[in-house]
Amino acid sequence: MRGRHGMDPLSNFIFVIVFIILIVSMFVPIPYLYIAGLVLLFISYFRVFSRNSYKRNAENEVFMRIIRKPRVWFNTQRRDANIRKTHHLYKCPNCRQKIKVPKGKGRIMVRCPKCQTEFQKVS
Ligand SMILES: [Zn+2]
Repeated sequence: MRGRHGMDPLSNFIFVIVFIILIVSMFVPIPYLYIAGLVLLFISYFRVFSRNSYKRNAENEVFMRIIRKPRVWFNTQRRDANIRKTHHLYKCPNCRQKIKVPKGKGRIMVRCPKCQTEFQKVS
């Protein structure tokens, strides 16, 4: 692997797509799907063994820019789902700031730490 580009997030992503395509093409007879999967497989191997790391990094950079927003959104959803196990998540009616309140405290007044707006909630 010396002098080769190696794996990067874009190659990983392409490998996952290839895997999905090859599995789907085993069960669903979509014409050329299998061939598309093989072409993508070839592209990902080409990227991994490429000696032109500069170009591969530029491609990966574009890929990372494209998936940045969905990734942030997904991570936020996952984090919020974890928080919801023990807390309620409310949004401030004034500034939309998310506020974490422990569950099981009954009727409470919540003060927004950002804009100091108070509102009543049941936790
Ligand atoms: Zn607020």
